[in-house]
Amino acid sequence: MLQDTAKAAWEHGRQYLMQGKVADYIPELGKANPVFFGLCIKTPDGQSIEFGDVDKRFTMQSICKVVCLATALQHEGFDTVFSHVMMEPSGDAFNSILKLDTASNRPFNPMINAGAIEVVNLLAPTFSFEELLDFTRAICMDDEIVLDEAVYHSEFATGDRNRAIGYLLKSKGVLAGDVLKTVDLYFKLCSLSVTARSLAGLGLVLANGGVDPRTGIRLFSAQTVRTVKTLMFTCGMYDRSGEFAVRIGLPCKSGVGGGIMASVENRMGIGTFGPSLDEKGNSIGGGYALEYLSRALHLHIFDSEHS
Ligand code: GLN
Repeated sequence: MLQDTAKAAWEHGRQYLMQGKVADYIPELGKANPVFFGLCIKTPDGQSIEFGDVDKRFTMQSICKVVCLATALQHEGFDTVFSHVMMEPSGDAFNSILKLDTASNRPFNPMINAGAIEVVNLLAPTFSFEELLDFTRAICMDDEIVLDEAVYHSEFATGDRNRAIGYLLKSKGVLAGDVLKTVDLYFKLCSLSVTARSLAGLGLVLANGGVDPRTGIRLFSAQTVRTVKTLMFTCGMYDRSGEFAVRIGLPCKSGVGGGIMASVENRMGIGTFGPSLDEKGNSIGGGYALEYLSRALHLHIFDSEHS
């Protein structure tokens, strides 16, 4: 049953691939093949339901913001994190600098670039890149995640807007320390290569309250995971987060590498990969596949038994 619905969702999403476009503002991402499309669902009892390009590697991009936020909440604490970044949807593009200068000193939320750079700045004095890579491997249940050097160098070479965000934060006294080092660490975390399977693993650990269901080991506290999922729900899909909340109704996070990760409370983690993106930077096939799944399986958090 779940198998059939997942297949239908994958076929549904696949029809829309040609309506999108791969990201090319990071030149290396422009090389992605827009017809790649994969869907993976992982459940707490160990099932993995997979269709299409589920073992192709691509970079996490903005999905790393989830791991960064979870790590910061866990190690720096809720109050410290939210004294550096707010918890409000911005309604602006993920890399916007506008309101950061005019409306607020603190970034709007940790799911946009300014907020993630601020969060990475909190982590930088305590954690090495290798440690953060290890956390990412653990929470994605994928030991093969590595740094994609080509994407990292491409992002480094073209990352001036992110450096500008870092310097603006520093000029406002919100970001401490070395802007270039912080932004460099952020670029590396965006350039970690995952698969649709790894994203389903991440969604599953979040769905399971922060515990790896294979081992029973707690990776993040329930409180941390609750906060992360709430911010995914309200801010995880850039300036289309409101529409995703209405249509899909799940905590989701996308990245311009083509991934979307979604988490269904106690039930499943979902990972999709399709580098053809809508105009806001969300995987177009992934969005349609998730909408199909959400409707067919009544996954929307506000679906009641009367739906
Ligand atoms: N590395 C990308 C950037 O900072 C991540 C953006 C994204 O996935 N939306 O521009």
